[in-house]
Amino acid sequence: MVKKVVIVGAGPCGVLMAHYLLRRSDQYQIDLYDRLSDPRSIEFSKARTYRITLTERGISALGQIAEIETAVRAISLEIHGGIFHQENGKPRVTSRKKPFVTLDRTRLFITLLQKLTEKYDTSRLNLHFNHACTKVNFAAKTIAFQPTAQTSEAIDTSLTVKYDLLIGADGARSVVRSHFLNTDLFEFEQKYVPTDYKSIILLNSNQPSDIHLEPNRVHSWRSNDGTVVLLLHQPDSSMSGIISFSRVNNQVAALATPEAVLQFFHKKFPEVGKLMTPSEAEAFLQRSSSRVLTTRCSRYHHGDSTLIVGDAAYASVSPSLGQGCNAALEDVAIVDKLLDEYADNWAIAIAQFTIRRKADAHALAELSDNSYPSSAKLGIEFALREKLAKTLHQLFPNYFVPSLMDLVFERDVPYAEILHSYKGWIAKVKKSNQQFLEAS
Ligand SMILES: Cc1cc2nc3c(=O)[nH]c(=O)nc-3n(C[C@H](O)[C@H](O)[C@H](O)COP(=O)(O)OP(=O)(O)OC[C@H]3O[C@@H](n4cnc5c(N)ncnc54)[C@H](O)[C@@H]3O)c2cc1C
Repeated sequence: MVKKVVIVGAGPCGVLMAHYLLRRSDQYQIDLYDRLSDPRSIEFSKARTYRITLTERGISALGQIAEIETAVRAISLEIHGGIFHQENGKPRVTSRKKPFVTLDRTRLFITLLQKLTEKYDTSRLNLHFNHACTKVNFAAKTIAFQPTAQTSEAIDTSLTVKYDLLIGADGARSVVRSHFLNTDLFEFEQKYVPTDYKSIILLNSNQPSDIHLEPNRVHSWRSNDGTVVLLLHQPDSSMSGIISFSRVNNQVAALATPEAVLQFFHKKFPEVGKLMTPSEAEAFLQRSSSRVLTTRCSRYHHGDSTLIVGDAAYASVSPSLGQGCNAALEDVAIVDKLLDEYADNWAIAIAQFTIRRKADAHALAELSDNSYPSSAKLGIEFALREKLAKTLHQLFPNYFVPSLMDLVFERDVPYAEILHSYKGWIAKVKKSNQQFLEAS
């Protein structure tokens, strides 16, 4: 019997889920909704986007769909390690045995969408952009959408559709998840991490030769108050990234003119200041700061037909750890595996998803919040620990686990296991970050 699946959210997780379900069998018919406009129709320079890193977890989930991994690699840069630009001007270089890739988030889901529409026609797949989910009625299995402000056509009435299966892939502020709050025994916790971030885009690819800007590496700068700049090259050798900064005593929010932006970077991060042109400083000023949400839920399914995945289920999107998208893509592969195990019995498969994923999702939130210390002193300890762990593991693999970051980047190591192996360090950073926050 045909199952009508409604997926809310055409982010990386929602679109990959459509690929996997449509590949499973023609019993699945999909309607994919997103409140935003079709990203393929927006001029790239106007897209609100940032670069993401994809490690083994995310790449292997993409790689299970024919042609996707090749298409994604074609728009990605391979990264072989990082360069920490120290205050004394000496770069500290770290290398990774297994490279990972970085790419633009919007380009990732444009690629996923293009492949989806090339493979499936409207008899099995219908895309509905500019439709925001507003209400879910679990008992009646209906979901309501409102046209959004970006709608160009005159759709002025709300739309209610019926579903057999509902998948909420609608991100950290999920409306589907918000309806779980009215159901029995659902617990939910949400908090903002104490640092905000803002995108930096440096389009000028003429970079000064006195700054060690090797491509294929993540470049980072850190100041004593815990403000961090992360920059990566784009395929055209321009650079983009973020600055993350404490919300308390927020100097970035106080910047009011392009001159003040340049002055701020020249003083705090002189190398970044050198890289930034006045027009890039102006563009930086125009961009708004973003807040990062961490959420935890006691379950990711409701009844026999509703599932939340990706950021909707457990947003823990600390940009520094770079795992939110990887985990969201991994969720899709896990759901697929469960459907194999339980012969497409959704009632069992989605309940099992909660059981199998919860410990890892909660562990990922802990790791995201507390792997990297805010204090510069502990930052040095972190780098030394990583180096030592790598060496010891290389020499005595049976006695010493790989370094924390190597484990995070691995494909098959559950986040809960990583948290267990590094619980001492995570507890230390958590305490230190708390003290750092109170003192600032
Ligand atoms: C600055 C920054 C850097 C990051 N870097 C990395 C990184 O390097 N590596 C990594 O793995 N992760 C990274 N992340 C996290 C990553 O971006 C997210 O975890 C990932 O995008 C989650 O995918 P998703 O599909 O679950 O949700 P989203 O990407 O948030 O997509 C949700 C979709 O749902 C739509 N939607 C929302 N509400 C509604 C509604 N009511 N109705 C209809 N549609 C709706 C949205 O428009 C959106 O298209 C980063 C995050 C940030 C903020």
